[in-house]
Amino acid sequence: MAEQNKENMMEKIVSLCKRRGFVFPTSEIYGGFANSYSYGPYGTELKNNIKKMWWKKFVQKRPDIVGMDGPILLNPKTWEASGHTEGFNDAMVDCKNCKRRYRADHLVKELTEEDMEGELERMTKTLQSGLKCPECGKSDWTEVRKMSQMFKTEMNGFDGSVYLRPETAGAIFSDFKNIVDSVRVKVPFGIAQIGKAFRNEIVARNFIFRIREFEQMEIEYFIEPETEWEPIFEKWLQDQEEFALSIGAKEEDLRRYEHPKAKLSHYSKKTIDIEYNFPFGFGELFGLAHRGDFDLMQHSKFSGQKLEYFDPVKNQWYVPHVLEPTVGLDRLILTAICAGYAEEKLENGEERIVLRFPKAVAPIKVAVFPLMKNKPELVDKAKEIFENLSENFMCEFDDNGNVGKRYRRQDEIGTPYCVTVDFESLDDDAVTVRDRDTMKQERIKIAELENYLAKKLSE
Ligand code: ATP
Repeated sequence: MAEQNKENMMEKIVSLCKRRGFVFPTSEIYGGFANSYSYGPYGTELKNNIKKMWWKKFVQKRPDIVGMDGPILLNPKTWEASGHTEGFNDAMVDCKNCKRRYRADHLVKELTEEDMEGELERMTKTLQSGLKCPECGKSDWTEVRKMSQMFKTEMNGFDGSVYLRPETAGAIFSDFKNIVDSVRVKVPFGIAQIGKAFRNEIVARNFIFRIREFEQMEIEYFIEPETEWEPIFEKWLQDQEEFALSIGAKEEDLRRYEHPKAKLSHYSKKTIDIEYNFPFGFGELFGLAHRGDFDLMQHSKFSGQKLEYFDPVKNQWYVPHVLEPTVGLDRLILTAICAGYAEEKLENGEERIVLRFPKAVAPIKVAVFPLMKNKPELVDKAKEIFENLSENFMCEFDDNGNVGKRYRRQDEIGTPYCVTVDFESLDDDAVTVRDRDTMKQERIKIAELENYLAKKLSE
């Protein structure tokens, strides 16, 4: 975001996302639903690509990390043990005049720049000392009170409430023993998981930055309790930052925020967020926390099971400590879109909007066009090329409108290459390949096209 004009940027991005099939308001035909969103065709591809990149970096290429996939509904004891049932609350306040509801700590920070998270009475006093509602300008506040972020439901055959998981970590800890017993993991090792999490946020806002149903990519990285953990912690921060850069974030738009000691949970030695400079300001993208042995000890206490690891080198049992790198997939998607978004003035005076995604992130890698849609010989050849290329790349066939318009459309969805079959192609068995970023065109033999694109797309 650094050099771009941030004015109206969110509006432009939200509008592009809808216009081009990345992200839509959900249930729109029913008037929408509580600021929830659906991913459209390109958003889904984008999401899958980012997931695949994360899995490759943190699971496939890591001999010390394994994956798992637990359910959304877990035994509710999981959340008693982790403290969520009792303590996963946000502070809420209402304006009595206009009825607008706010997350109190966010509002107080916005109005006073002071962080009063967790201090309900102080927030009430501060608001009631005359701070004005940003919506209606009156100062008529309720008390600040707690609201649970847990979504409750019921399950046949089970007495009592069941919860939609508020984070994916729960299943990692409760399946720790099964993984240690069935896979040859050796401390230090990690367990990774991607999946939906649900939080009854007081206010869902800033598009897909804060939503109530979102996707997390989390790792629990188990280390020896006595080990020197600082270098491992630092390496995790760097790996997370490196991942952000690989999806297109610029270095100057990333910053670290260390949680002050006084605000840390009693078990945490250190917590650092990596924030991204979104058009609405810096916001948490990744979190990294040293959680000690709190989670395994709690699950051990609540389940009555021993959750320990036998260290063959030290020849002893212990409860490993854990570092928790976590990130929200939806926030990464928003980062990739914000970082890639560019408005450009072309030499001929025209303007174009382009999503300059890194190639691995781009939802469509190659668009294939016949120059004209009413010439069967061009259409057939283009279809044949589409069929061949789509074996290996996500491609799109497009014969709508003139080629200039098709380029503009592909620029807006961030497609790195467009291939056009024209009349010359029928004689010289070559096509025109146009590059999204340079807009330069090259003539490539059809027989060499696949290798050419494979090479370009892996650069
Ligand atoms: P925040 O302070 O923004 O509410 P958090 O500190 O509660 O976030 P964590 O509990 O650390 O978040 O969750 C891990 C990750 O999940 C976050 O780093 C963020 O990327 C993502 N995340 C958390 N809440 C949401 C949400 N409501 N919508 C989308 N992503 C979220």
